[in-house]
Amino acid sequence: MPQGKKRILIVGGVAGGASAACRARRLSEEAEIILFERGEFVSFANCGLPYHIGGEITKRSKLLVQTPESLSTRFNIDVRINSEVTAIDRDKKEVAVKNLASNEQYTEPYDYLILSPGAEPVRPPLPGFDNPRVFTLRNIPDMDRIKHIVDAQKPQNAVVVGGGYIGLETAEALIHRGVKVSLVELAGQVMTPLDPEMTAPVNQCLRKHGVELLLNTSVKSFSDSDGQIKVELSSDSSLDCDLAILAIGVKPEATLAKDAEISTGPLGGIATDDHMKTSDESVYAVGDAIEVTDYVTGKNALVPLAGPANRQGRIAADVIFGINSTYKKTQGTAICKVFELAAACTGANEKTLKRLNMPYEKIYIYPPSHASYYPGGETLAVKMLYDPNNGKVLGAQAVGPDGADKRIDVFATAIRAGMTVYDLCELELCYAPPFGSAKDPVNFAGFVAANVMDKAAKLCHSEELMNPKDNQFLLDVRTPKEFTEDGTIPGAVNIPLDEIRDRLDEIPRDKELLVFCRVGQRGYLACRILCQNGFDCRNLTGGYLIYQAVQEMIANNQN
Ligand code: FAD
Repeated sequence: MPQGKKRILIVGGVAGGASAACRARRLSEEAEIILFERGEFVSFANCGLPYHIGGEITKRSKLLVQTPESLSTRFNIDVRINSEVTAIDRDKKEVAVKNLASNEQYTEPYDYLILSPGAEPVRPPLPGFDNPRVFTLRNIPDMDRIKHIVDAQKPQNAVVVGGGYIGLETAEALIHRGVKVSLVELAGQVMTPLDPEMTAPVNQCLRKHGVELLLNTSVKSFSDSDGQIKVELSSDSSLDCDLAILAIGVKPEATLAKDAEISTGPLGGIATDDHMKTSDESVYAVGDAIEVTDYVTGKNALVPLAGPANRQGRIAADVIFGINSTYKKTQGTAICKVFELAAACTGANEKTLKRLNMPYEKIYIYPPSHASYYPGGETLAVKMLYDPNNGKVLGAQAVGPDGADKRIDVFATAIRAGMTVYDLCELELCYAPPFGSAKDPVNFAGFVAANVMDKAAKLCHSEELMNPKDNQFLLDVRTPKEFTEDGTIPGAVNIPLDEIRDRLDEIPRDKELLVFCRVGQRGYLACRILCQNGFDCRNLTGGYLIYQAVQEMIANNQN
């Protein structure tokens, strides 16, 4: 194990900083390691904060994964809380530190400096944004303030601004505490790492639980009004509430690095190489403060997630002690709980692939989360994106009450391994009826896409069925009951799958058939019959369910 009497200073004592500190100690008993944390707490579970507000995590102490004392006792790390690093003198290789409790200022020399200052919540300079009842949620004191007002004042109404995962988790927490929530989101969708049509079940779920969802809406100002806050909206209406949570995103805390003329990237994060080294040989940076390279697109990205921060912290310590660890880009694997649903994603989404003009095809499937004959199975909505030239998996999204996490983790591993849709067909995944299906949803996504690659199936997409051409014929192969009761696509003719062989003469041979069912499976079977009988046909991937979700998305974007 490489050793060395090195003096390592670390700025930021949570995910990236604490990981780097502990790894450094595991690699060297000799090193002097000093961890500076501006706040009062180190190594706390940011990701758990909403769940303490909501009451799922009852004990606040559970969020304190390590304390300054435990880091000192077990890892012999000199932890200095309430200590802000205010400047870096790169020539002298020292930092200036301000003790926020005593106002004492001093300098500390370093051999190596690791920056893990994180990202701060965006607070736009609009009127009233500094109102004391407008909160952000980043750390334990933020959580305490929000929880205190909920516990002590029993607020009736809250406005959550921002539909990212912090906004959604906080909205759910407040609903659990009996607070009525309006969620205001500038975009036409929540959870922007997913494509908009995949968030349709999330919207339904939020509304079902009483969240008033205001998409395509921004906040213009906050003002005091009879003991409440009036939130003026871009729609020229307003909401009165007892508290508001601002969760409109985070931006890298890169000022310390910038002031020391350490290079930053085009998106404002600290620039590093794949050893986490900044433009200064002796200074490393990790976590939410840095700019990473996207694993799929190769473009610069800001991806504020705990997994990358922890791994990067470990890598920085490795490299300082001579281990040639490299960070191999970020693929943005993420998951968010929204009441009974989980919404998860990995890799590139369609919006990004479209924007970057990268070739892609997409398939949707709606498999059961486990064998449909075993109780408790739930429908999972899955979207997979792949390169139609070589079948490489580019991204995946899954939304549902059960099993989204494990499928996205398999897709994430597949993307990391450079697998193709054919490889997904081959994956041998664990199965017994309570847990999955003999053909797992991941295998299934592979089968569907491999059929398309092999030209055994041709796909069409909802947008085409909304505006069919004169030489196209819309064929709905669901049952007559579904056709009449659930609605259909305008202009579609209903011939149920099981009657198709007997009713071929009702189907035009001079037109291209755009075939659909509820989720795409019966449509595929119909297409197999039809194409073997000489018809030219394509199947709507994701079926009528995805058509409805796309329509909702278009309506959201028009409002
Ligand atoms: P942080 O963990 O933010 O730590 C940075 C620390 O540096 C801060 O404590 C700050 O006080 C300190 N600091 C900054 N500047 C200085 C300075 N000059 N001197 C001294 N100290 C300084 N990610 C997930 O992957 N999954 C989740 O479910 C998830 N949920 C989250 C929920 C919430 C409410 C929040 C806020 C975040 C969540 N995250 C989640 C994101 C995850 O917590 C971050 O990606 C991760 O903590 C980043 O680690 P970091 O070390 O870069 O920054």
